[in-house]
Amino acid sequence: MRDDPYSELRTDPLTGDRVIVAPGRAERLQPLGGSGRRSRLPRIDPTCPFCPGNEAETTTELYRLPPGQGTAWRVRVVANKYPALSPDSAMELAAPSGPWEVGPAPGRHEVIVESPRHDVSVTELDDEGLFEVLVSYRDRFAAAAADPQVMHVVIFRNQGPLANATILHPHSQLVGLPFVPDLISRKLEVSSAHHGERALLLELVEREIEDGSRLIEASECYATFVPYAAAHAHELWVAPRFLPPRFDRLDDQTLREFGVALRRALALVAEALGDPDYNFILQTPPLQEGAETVLPWYGQIIPRQTVAAGFELAVGVRIVETRPEEAVERLKIALPKVAGV
Ligand SMILES: [Zn+2]
Repeated sequence: MRDDPYSELRTDPLTGDRVIVAPGRAERLQPLGGSGRRSRLPRIDPTCPFCPGNEAETTTELYRLPPGQGTAWRVRVVANKYPALSPDSAMELAAPSGPWEVGPAPGRHEVIVESPRHDVSVTELDDEGLFEVLVSYRDRFAAAAADPQVMHVVIFRNQGPLANATILHPHSQLVGLPFVPDLISRKLEVSSAHHGERALLLELVEREIEDGSRLIEASECYATFVPYAAAHAHELWVAPRFLPPRFDRLDDQTLREFGVALRRALALVAEALGDPDYNFILQTPPLQEGAETVLPWYGQIIPRQTVAAGFELAVGVRIVETRPEEAVERLKIALPKVAGV
């Protein structure tokens, strides 16, 4: 009889994506290590474009909290200096003759500077600081959603160089896309085909809570768990237990509670996995009318422990070295350390 850990093929109920869970490969899972940023960074870095005093080095300011002028901002939003999309893209583009298509790439690309402090981590922000970051997400989401060119909004955070952050100052980004990406369309399609008392995502959340083997914790409004077919080792979702309105229509209290659940999840990842670099993604449905009642928004945290290799790039299927049930056990060990977070 073989006693090797066996591999499994799991399917994500929300996307239909398959993932190979291959625990036998866990031994080769070498944490890439975090950037270890907190211990080494100054409170203010005079060379950092996002630090107070260097406001003139960024592009046009789009938003700040508190509103108004002056230097005492707590959150500041600027257009990305190297945007992936151009806000006014009226230029005529010509494709070379042949089977190629080209068109303008209009849209939005913004940077949300989360604190005037260069050295602070999201998990160190107090309730008010964190709330203001989420208020800025909500307000900028609303502004992007009101732009007729924008069909889909994604807000994300790259923490550390392994997650593709090029500036260490705490910040998130917002991208407003002029089309709905296939993955998002597929999630909406699968969710629309689900007929139940509640939306498919909410059903999955309740089933994760009942099952319990991948659950970190649940409050009245939110649940934190490693999804059954997580495509990344130690991936966490912070998902609502109620049908939330579109993200820009959330009330303050619900937003605050999401912030607390999110901060705890991020603190847990930092404690349990040695402060790894990570991506946080606010997963939202496309902007089309009514999509939010079928596919609610949720938060996704992806610790960066491995990089995509040839196999993943070749076929678009992830190999995950840690079973989600084992990932949860590892994460939960650190729960007492985040008791006060
Ligand atoms: Zn800075």
